[in-house]
Parts: sequence; structure tokens; C-alpha cells
Amino acid sequence: MPPYAFYNKEFVPLPEAQMGIMTHALHYGTACFEGIRGNWNSRDKQLYLFRCADHYKRLLNSAKLLKIGIPYSADEMCDITIDLVRRSGYREDVYIRPVAYKSSEMLGVRLHGLQDGLFIFVTTFGPYLDSEKGIRCCVSSWRRLDDNMIPPRGKICGLYVNNALAKTEANENGFDEAILLTSDGHVSEGSGENIFLVQNGHLVTPSTHDRILLGITRDTVIHLASQELGVGTEERHMDRSELYLADECFLTGTAAHVTPVVEIDRRKVGEGNIGKLTKELQRLYFDVECGMSTKYMQWCTPVYS
Ligand code: PMP
Repeated sequence: MPPYAFYNKEFVPLPEAQMGIMTHALHYGTACFEGIRGNWNSRDKQLYLFRCADHYKRLLNSAKLLKIGIPYSADEMCDITIDLVRRSGYREDVYIRPVAYKSSEMLGVRLHGLQDGLFIFVTTFGPYLDSEKGIRCCVSSWRRLDDNMIPPRGKICGLYVNNALAKTEANENGFDEAILLTSDGHVSEGSGENIFLVQNGHLVTPSTHDRILLGITRDTVIHLASQELGVGTEERHMDRSELYLADECFLTGTAAHVTPVVEIDRRKVGEGNIGKLTKELQRLYFDVECGMSTKYMQWCTPVYS
């Protein structure tokens, strides 16, 4: 079966989903997106979409910031996604990419007076970062944008130039991932992940006001740490030097899952190995997202009936 895309309100084979070179979103970044994982569970012979409705709720919020109208509710977009993945017939891990965008083929920087579009496609997607071995990070020379520049709580396409600058700088300097600071010098997040530290047995993560995307994996980890391990999370400003002195550090994201950080700015995190709490959360998160934990099946939407 060929992979399909949902484009202009219908399902079409992916290669047929094409758009014109004058499309507004391409020129001005006037679009927003999501990344949703479908995790194959070989025991159940089932593909589970993880927290699908939550991703679409966030897409609706991002679209609101950009004055993009989406003619579907979060639940309706979940149903479209199930149909899309089913038609494509995947029986392996997949990644779903919905994009809401300014579709007019028209010049002029603005958000108003333009047509809106939505497309969704599904693709296979391997590991994003090395979550087995742990990764090496650097603090980026690029700062995160402020809320009144381009709001980072929206998953806005144009904003991701900031993330791309940071990621490429990190990779070209020999690191796996960048950690961005806010304009006032507090730790914000990775180029595609939220960040957590372990300090004296509890978790610390930048607050919602530190220019972060409100990660769904972040929320999941906070919940699992508290409910399953009795470990609390402090959401607050985080200083750069706390990164160097933490007992453990990990990044969270739909693509990154729970990825341990073993080195930051050429300083070992803890002993330079994957920490105990990080390992535990990695295991818990993996079970939950793959539909192996009966307690959290409300987060897993089965694709096949
Ligand atoms: N921050 C940024 C900048 C991201 O791109 C992502 C990935 N969506 C995240 C955090 C993590 O969000 P989530 O856990 O919802 O994937």
C-alpha cells in the first residue's frame, strides 16, 4: 500500500500532495505543525497513536496564534489520522506530521485575508537521538525568542529557524544537541525537546514561562514520575550552571522519547553515565507509549480494529 496524505480535505497518495511555489507559508513561515508518534505493539499486533487528541489540541492553539482556521475539532482530526494510517497500512513505528498553514498563493507579509489549509502525512521514523547511549549537549550561542517576538508556546514553522540555527551549530561543533537559553539567560529547552535535571532525587524543569513548548512528553514524564515513582517536579527558572552540577539530565520529546544527556559543555553530567532515575523514567515512558501499561491506555489510540 502506498503511503497516503490527507490534503485539501481528501486522502491522496503522498506523491500527489503537491503545492505551488507561491504558497504563503513557504515564504513567510506562516504555518504550524505537530509531530505524533504511532508505536507498533507486536504483542497486541496494534499500532497505538500516543496522546493524539492532546497533539491536535496543541495544533488548534498554535493555529489560533497564527489566525489559521482549522475546520475540524481535535477528535475529528484524530479520526482522520486513524483513517490515514490505516489506509497507508503501516505495521511498524510511524511519525505523523499535521501542518496547518496559510495556503493562498499570494505575496505580502501578514496573517489576515488569506486562505487556510491543513495537510497530514505519515511516514516511518527511526530513533531521533541516541537514547541508548546518551547524548552530548552544548549551550547554544543562539537565544530562544521571547513570547512577544514569536511565541515559543506555539509550534510555529517560522520559529523553527531559531531551533535549526542552534541544532546545526551544535552538530557542526561536534555535539548531538543544543540547549537554548532565554534572552535573560535562563535555561529554556533543546531544539526539539524539553529538558529535565535530577537534583537530590527530585526533578527540575524550566517553567511554562521560560519560552518552552509545553511538551506532551514533558507532561507525561511529570505525571509518571509523580504517580509511579513518587518523585516530584519543580517547574521554575533554571540557571545555566545548574546544568553542570546536576546529578542527571535528560531531554523529552515525541521524537526524542526520554533521551539521557551524559555531557554538557564538555562537563560530565553526574558520573557521565545514564542516571538511575532517567533509566527508570525511560522504561516507564516506553511501556506507556507502546500500550504495554493497562493503567495508561487512555493515552493510546489503536489504529486497527
Ligand atoms: N520543544 C520543542 C522546541 C519541540 O520541537 C518539541 C517537539 N515537539 C518539544 C519541546 C517536545 O514536545 P513534545 O513532547 O510534545 O513532542
